[in-house]
Amino acid sequence: MMKITIDYDKCCWKGGKCVSCCCGGKCEGCVEVCPTGALERKDILTIDEEKCINCGACVSACDHNAISIVR
Ligand code: SF4
Ligand code: SF4
Repeated sequence: MMKITIDYDKCCWKGGKCVSCCCGGKCEGCVEVCPTGALERKDILTIDEEKCINCGACVSACDHNAISIVR
């Protein structure tokens, strides 16, 4: 069973905002490409594992290599 994991040290969405300068403060990427709406930017990035279909789109979309699939 594959599982998406988020590395919160690498993810630049912290405290409800993007703390990286590379994207103009929007941190667009993982949330936008997810076809099922499983990811949400709340205080931190959250994943609803019930909605995730393990497609891997978010892994490719993140410029910070913060998301990975663990087998
Ligand atoms: S694209 Fe990467 S850095 Fe941005 S919110 Fe998603 S996991 Fe975090
Ligand atoms: S693996 Fe696919 S469905 Fe799961 S959170 Fe990432 S983009 Fe969404």
